[in-house]
Amino acid sequence: MIKSDIIIIGAGPVGLFAIFEAGLMQLKCHLIDAIPQPGGQLAEIYPKKPIYDIPGYPSVLAGELVDNLMEQAAPFKPGFTLGERAETIDKQADGSFIVTTSEGTQHHAPVVMIAGGLGSFEPRKPKIDNLADFEKKGIDYMVKDPEALLGKKIVISGGGDSALDWAIYFAEKNDQPVGLIHRSESFRAHKDSVAKAHALAKAGKLALYTHAEVVGLGGEEQLESIEIKQKGTDNKTIAVDRWLPLFGLSPKLGPIANWGLEIEKNAIKVDNTLDYQTNIPGIFAIGDVNTYPGKLKLILCGFHEATLAVQTAYKIVHPNKRFTMKYTTVQGVNGFE
Ligand SMILES: Cc1cc2nc3c(=O)[nH]c(=O)nc-3n(C[C@H](O)[C@H](O)[C@H](O)COP(=O)(O)OP(=O)(O)OC[C@H]3O[C@@H](n4cnc5c(N)ncnc54)[C@H](O)[C@@H]3O)c2cc1C
Repeated sequence: MIKSDIIIIGAGPVGLFAIFEAGLMQLKCHLIDAIPQPGGQLAEIYPKKPIYDIPGYPSVLAGELVDNLMEQAAPFKPGFTLGERAETIDKQADGSFIVTTSEGTQHHAPVVMIAGGLGSFEPRKPKIDNLADFEKKGIDYMVKDPEALLGKKIVISGGGDSALDWAIYFAEKNDQPVGLIHRSESFRAHKDSVAKAHALAKAGKLALYTHAEVVGLGGEEQLESIEIKQKGTDNKTIAVDRWLPLFGLSPKLGPIANWGLEIEKNAIKVDNTLDYQTNIPGIFAIGDVNTYPGKLKLILCGFHEATLAVQTAYKIVHPNKRFTMKYTTVQGVNGFE
C-alpha cells in the first residue's frame, strides 16, 4: 500500500503543478498515470510545439514545460505509479480513499485529486484475430522499460514519432535485429527522425518494411512470430520476441465515469465557487477533466484550480491545524528531506 497525503490521478501539467502547491503546504503527493511518462497531452500529443500563453514564458516547448514542472516539483519528492490506469476508488470508513490500478497497485490517502485531462490514453490496437492471446506475452503497446527489451528480437509497427523514436533507440542500442513496419512510405514523424531511420536501415541496423502490415501472430504461450504482408511480395513470417504496435494513444474517460461522480458532457462537475471539489467530499477534479460555468480548457486555468484545491485538501489532511499562506518570496521553497 503506497501512502501519501494526496493521490493525484493524472500526471499532466496540472497534476504536476499540484505537487508544488501541495508541497508548499507540506502535503506529500503520489501520482498515477496510465502512460509511462509524465506530461499528459503535452508529452503524448505535442512535445515539440511551442506554447505561448504560459505566464512569464513568451514561448515554451511543451516538452520543456513538462521538464520544468518536474524540476519545480522535485523538492517535494513526489511518488509516481506510471503506466498503470487508476481503476477503482474505495472510500474507507474514516473518509480516506484507496485507489487501485489496472496492475493491482494500491494507494491510500485522505484526499484524491483527479487531474485526468481528457481521460486516460489508451492504445489504438490493430485488428488481428488472436491479438488478445499475446498481449503482455510478447505484444506491448507502450515501452515502459526499454532496457529490459535489449537483447531481444524486436519489431515495431507505426509511422509516427513514438514508433520512429523507439525504432531508432533499439536500432542504435540492440545487438539483435530490429524491424520497423509501416503501411506507407511516408512517415508522420519529425523529419530528422525519418532521415535517421533511413540511415540506420542503410547501415543494416534497422529492417524497414514499408507498404507493409502485420496480419498474423504465432506462438504457444508467448509470441514467437509475426506474419508480414508487404505490397509486391509474398507474405513472410519472421521470428520475434517482442512486437510493439505503436499506432498512437487516444484518450478515454474510462473508469473515471464509474466512480459515482457527477458527470456532465464527459467531464466531472465541480464546485468552482470554492475549491473544485466534486460531489464526493475529499475528491477534487482539476484541469481539463472538470467542468463548471465558464470553464476553459487551458493549462493556466488548471494551475489556478490546483492552487485553490490544495487549500481545502490541507484542511482535510490536518483538520486541527491552520495554515497561513506566505509568499514563496518570503518563505522560499522548503522541500522534503
Ligand atoms: C495540440 C494541442 C495544443 C494545445 N495548446 C495549448 C496551448 O497553447 N495553451 C494551453 O493552455 N493549452 C493548450 N492545449 C490544452 C492543454 O494541453 C490542456 O489544457 C492540458 O494538457 C490539460 O492538462 P491536464 O493536466 O488537466 O490533463 P492532461 O494533459 O490531459 O493529462 C491527463 C493525464 O491523466 C491521465 N489519466 C486520465 N485518466 C486516468 C486514469 N484513470 N488512470 C491513470 N491516468 C489517467 C492521462 O493518461 C494523462 O496523462 C493544447 C492541447 C492540444 C491537444
